[in-house]
Amino acid sequence: MGSEIKVTENVVSCSDNGQHPLVYINLNDGKARCQYCGQVFTLIDPKDSKAEKEAA
Ligand SMILES: [Zn+2]
Repeated sequence: MGSEIKVTENVVSCSDNGQHPLVYINLNDGKARCQYCGQVFTLIDPKDSKAEKEAA
């Protein structure tokens, strides 16, 4: 664990591949953590996604 998932929508769903109940996580703060599995989601600007790939 530890890697964050970058998303471009301010609401994401997480079920950890069915390992826990499906929850919707609000990213209004730009970053949030799943209360069940601890997965971190980071909100990015869609036009930044290309730069993210180049950085990785
Ligand atoms: Zn989760």
